[in-house]
Amino acid sequence: MKPLSEIVAKTEASATLVLTALAKRLQADGVDVVSLTAGEPDFPTPQHIKDAAKRAIEENRTTYTLNAGTLELRQAIVQKFRADNNLAFHPSQILVSNGAKHSIANALQAICNRGDEVIVPSPYWVSYPQMVLLAGATPVIVSTSEENGFMLTAEQLRGAITARTKALILCTPSNPTGAIYSKHDLELLAEVIAETGIYVIADEIYEKMIYDGAHHFSIGSIASIRNQVVTVNGMSKAYSMTGWRVGFLGASQEITSGAERVQSQTTSNASSISQYAALAALTGPQDEIVAMAEEYDRRREFIHSAVTSIPGIRCHMPKGAFYIFPNISDYLGRSVRGVTMNSCDDIAKFLLDEEGVALVPGSSFGSENHLRISYSCSITELEKAAERLQRGFRKLE
Ligand code: PMP
Ligand code: GLU
Repeated sequence: MKPLSEIVAKTEASATLVLTALAKRLQADGVDVVSLTAGEPDFPTPQHIKDAAKRAIEENRTTYTLNAGTLELRQAIVQKFRADNNLAFHPSQILVSNGAKHSIANALQAICNRGDEVIVPSPYWVSYPQMVLLAGATPVIVSTSEENGFMLTAEQLRGAITARTKALILCTPSNPTGAIYSKHDLELLAEVIAETGIYVIADEIYEKMIYDGAHHFSIGSIASIRNQVVTVNGMSKAYSMTGWRVGFLGASQEITSGAERVQSQTTSNASSISQYAALAALTGPQDEIVAMAEEYDRRREFIHSAVTSIPGIRCHMPKGAFYIFPNISDYLGRSVRGVTMNSCDDIAKFLLDEEGVALVPGSSFGSENHLRISYSCSITELEKAAERLQRGFRKLE
């Protein structure tokens, strides 16, 4: 038989999805596992959104929509971008896709040629480097420092840009670190972006989950680079709509049209029913979003304090999203019953096997010294997890 695709052979499965599935499988088999793997809200989708979807079914809104998404939904997205992000788009500059992951993949396909480089600051969300590879380009990983709050500096960006650099992927608030770039941070990056003409894919999916009075600022609103920025967002996190699969991007007409052509030849429109649900989410009451963010904040405080009470673990306080990213490097090289913890993967495996706590090792995000803990689960689950983590790390002392 002929060999299969070399690019796909090199593509890794998403570690977050694989580990979330593993935890679910163990739970289904009756194993007592607390899962801190999934970056997935545990709240039900708000009722008025579910009602809109039911209405859409009853009204037979079950045909293909326009490939780019219904005009009403794109108009609502234009409003959202204007009101929340100070971004001005025409509906033709909006593309609705099957989740923000799909939006990013479409944007990369529209932007990249084979051999292009795409800068990905690390720690990064697991899928970015893989999506760059799938688009035929090369991810260039730039490590940010923990001391600088895991944020890419303008000097680092400048230093990483070569003649082949096409784009930068920037995630704020960040998965996995919870870092939020301020307006000033982004203005400094924008100077380099304007000078070099590279594109930016700005992933803002965690924009509504911000704490300690932090502000979310959209890099696409900086006038000098407006046409170079693809702003990506979606319904999954803010509205607790992960399974509905609706994400969107706003960009220059040229980029959006390119991404739309990619979508027209691969998946066509996002689910019509989900689009009506998304319309209700964006145009309806927003109070449940605020309530969810308040609950995440309580969980953040709890799990951060529980984890940092473990000797040798350091963890910067995340300002956004729903993850903490503790540094566990003090525990590397330690042994338990003759087994040495050589990597964060070993520690994650030990915590799962020994204590029944599932989490994602930092290696999946480009950092060997960390673990990612998602706090998108109830305080009761977090309390159970905290106890187990404390006990597990004590065994490694
Ligand atoms: N970006 C980031 C940083 C994420 O964590 C996720 C989580 N799934 C996504 C994009 C994609 O979300 P979705 O495809 O569900 O909209
Ligand atoms: N984005 C979430 C996470 O990082 C969901 C899983 C995924 O899509 O990778 O856990």
